[in-house]
Amino acid sequence: MINVTKTFLPPQEEYNAVLKRAWDAGWITNRGALVLELEEKLKAYLKVPNIIAMTNGTLPLQIAIKALGLTGEIITTPFSYVATTSSIVWEGCTPVFVDIHPEYLTIDETKIEAAITPKTTGILATHVFGNPCDVETIEKIAHKHNLKVIYDAAHCFGVTYKGKSIFEYGDVSTCSFHATKLFHTGEGGALFTKDREFQKKLFYHHNFGHKGNEDFQGLGVNAKMSELQAAMGLAVLPYIETILEARKRVAELYKNNLGGVSALKLREDTQWNYSYYPVLFENETQLLAIQQLLNKENIFPRRYFYPSLNLLPYADKKPCPISENIASRVLCLPLYHDLSDGVVLKICNIINEEL
Ligand SMILES: *Cc1c(COP(=O)(O)O)cnc(C)c1O
Repeated sequence: MINVTKTFLPPQEEYNAVLKRAWDAGWITNRGALVLELEEKLKAYLKVPNIIAMTNGTLPLQIAIKALGLTGEIITTPFSYVATTSSIVWEGCTPVFVDIHPEYLTIDETKIEAAITPKTTGILATHVFGNPCDVETIEKIAHKHNLKVIYDAAHCFGVTYKGKSIFEYGDVSTCSFHATKLFHTGEGGALFTKDREFQKKLFYHHNFGHKGNEDFQGLGVNAKMSELQAAMGLAVLPYIETILEARKRVAELYKNNLGGVSALKLREDTQWNYSYYPVLFENETQLLAIQQLLNKENIFPRRYFYPSLNLLPYADKKPCPISENIASRVLCLPLYHDLSDGVVLKICNIINEEL
């Protein structure tokens, strides 16, 4: 069976060798040596000044909303994974959806100002499939209206924009290290901010508010990454270039062999990470026909993102025609490190014959 993605598993003896360090230390959580080492290695690899490793990629979104003091309305994108919207609602705020750009698939920055009301406190946007939002325009709008900016950068491991890590943009950026993401710790995630003082606040929020063993600095939750998760990250990280190269090969094979469908348009000056291979069909009927043909061959691409998040049961359902239209006809094709050329070409043939 060919799925949309496949988790990269390092050689088991290498994972065991890292785990042994936790056994030897008798220490498996509470920011032990492995988490600290993973953070240092990620800072060096990603060239970012700060990182807090966390237990998944959703809690960092909630912690960012809480720590920035966002209340009332948060402007957000309808074209993302459900965690972007659910985090806003979970934190007691109201998501206000702004439609997306039809080619970049990120929030349409030209429509943000019209959605600002006296209740708006922030913007939570997603760099979709690793494609950056128009971060410059969003920063200007945020500055003008005194809004905070959070980027859901769950798809962005290794992405750079204008020569620097995409995680450096916004007041806070988050990433996911879930097993389906290109760098992973099984479950895991991280939070990034350039502001060292603010980083301290984010830090205590992720660890119950602890300041030492007996003192509390404020409200917190438990979002700590465990040593067992960090061990996976430390075993996967040496392979990251190999993973990226392999994914690039698959993505280029798709690009060279899929004539008639449109793929993601990358923002200029982006060094992309080949995190997903989305294709846009003409309409949902065509998508469903192709999906069925692929399924018959035991190939399971994914309708990602579908549905448009403004249609969630707990969202306001105000129309976002572009996002709804894109969601109805986008399919993410299988893309992972050891996907064979033969399978990629077979997928391309099936699609090309139906167009
Ligand atoms: C994967 C993902 C998340 C959630 O990350 P978890 O680590 O699964 O909690 C959030 N946003 C986007 C866009 C994602 O793709």
